[in-house]
Amino acid sequence: MNPESPSTIYLDNNATTAVAPEVLEAMLPFLTTEYFNPSSVYERAKPAAQAVRRARETVAAFLGGAALEEVLFTSCATESVNATLHGAVRANPGRRHLVTTAVEHPAVYEVAKDLARGGFDVEFLPVDRAGRCDPRTLARALRPGETLLVAVMHANNETGVVFPVADLARLTKETDPSILFFTDATQTAGKVPLDMNGALREVDLLAFSGHKLYAPKGVGVLFARRGARLRPFLVGGHQESGRRAGTENVPYIAGLARACRLAQEDHDAVEARIRRLRDRLETGLRAAIPFVEVNGEGAERLPNTLNLSAHFIEGEGMLYELNDHGICASSGSACTSGSLEPSHVLRAMRVPFTAMHGSIRFSLGRYNTEAEIERVIEVFPGIVASLRRLSPYWDPAQNRPRPEAEAMMHAPPDAVG
Ligand code: PLP
Repeated sequence: MNPESPSTIYLDNNATTAVAPEVLEAMLPFLTTEYFNPSSVYERAKPAAQAVRRARETVAAFLGGAALEEVLFTSCATESVNATLHGAVRANPGRRHLVTTAVEHPAVYEVAKDLARGGFDVEFLPVDRAGRCDPRTLARALRPGETLLVAVMHANNETGVVFPVADLARLTKETDPSILFFTDATQTAGKVPLDMNGALREVDLLAFSGHKLYAPKGVGVLFARRGARLRPFLVGGHQESGRRAGTENVPYIAGLARACRLAQEDHDAVEARIRRLRDRLETGLRAAIPFVEVNGEGAERLPNTLNLSAHFIEGEGMLYELNDHGICASSGSACTSGSLEPSHVLRAMRVPFTAMHGSIRFSLGRYNTEAEIERVIEVFPGIVASLRRLSPYWDPAQNRPRPEAEAMMHAPPDAVG
């Protein structure tokens, strides 16, 4: 339970997390007495400069002992991604081929589509029904001497499916060591170790955002390995060694560093608890709801994420009903854009038509409790049952899908239209 809003059951931690009390405490001096610009020369500004330096050391350690100059502070993961893709394109004009996946977060997906519209040759690797990317598709896509960059997310924000980025980076480097390998680690930072000198030593560039690991919104990280050629994205002052201009956001940077330490301090215990709660939620809901499936089943998934599809209903309806019970989750539809289009991720996974609109994502975090999970298991099956009674695909008299709807359950999305 979020200590700040006890009546809310918050199960949308992949969207954002509460700021941890320890993080807030680390930030407060720099929002109050230590407000100075870290670039100023006078003595009173020293604590601010020191805080940024210490934060960089902490984040470098969090990234498995990265070099300090490999850690850049940004405003969010989206900025880190844009700095990477646009920075790489501008620094390496001779290469115009990029490879990414069909299931990236819009922070990558939309930039890649924009580059494609601008004349770049961009390949979107497909995923299988479980949301996995087959390394053989990457091997076929790579063009030695031509490919500039490969961007594959570390874990998917909607389904929690984890990608084997260490293997994919190795494969990329074996094909052509000058191809840059980038991973969007926004959903794994704080959940999965990011060892840039160990498992991820072949990854050149990595991005994440503070607000997915209990730091505030408005601060992010770009890891850029020594030698990775990028033109600066934000040009201006000399901050971040001239590679990202703009006065450092000292309080948020201090908070982000504290969040990285917090994630490491109690990682195993927190992860085990979250996994147990997520598994309980999954088995509880599956037992109580017929015609339901787990998106990403069979793939390695983040321990905090459960993406369920209840056939024959709309995700939006479920969200509104859950909201009435004080339960926050999210759906796979692009509801924030005002459209009810199913997500590009579920489409790429070829989730059947009858399930694609009825997807819902529960994403757990360190403050969730057993009682909250039991409450969701108590109310959610009733919500699904009542929405199904209103669905044209459902026969309320028989309390089961209409035969023609049941026949569509296993059809891929484009077979139905
Ligand atoms: N990448 C992934 C996988 C995400 O889940 C998100 C946010 O949901 C982002 C990038 C973008 O993060 P931000 O909005 O903090 O820039």
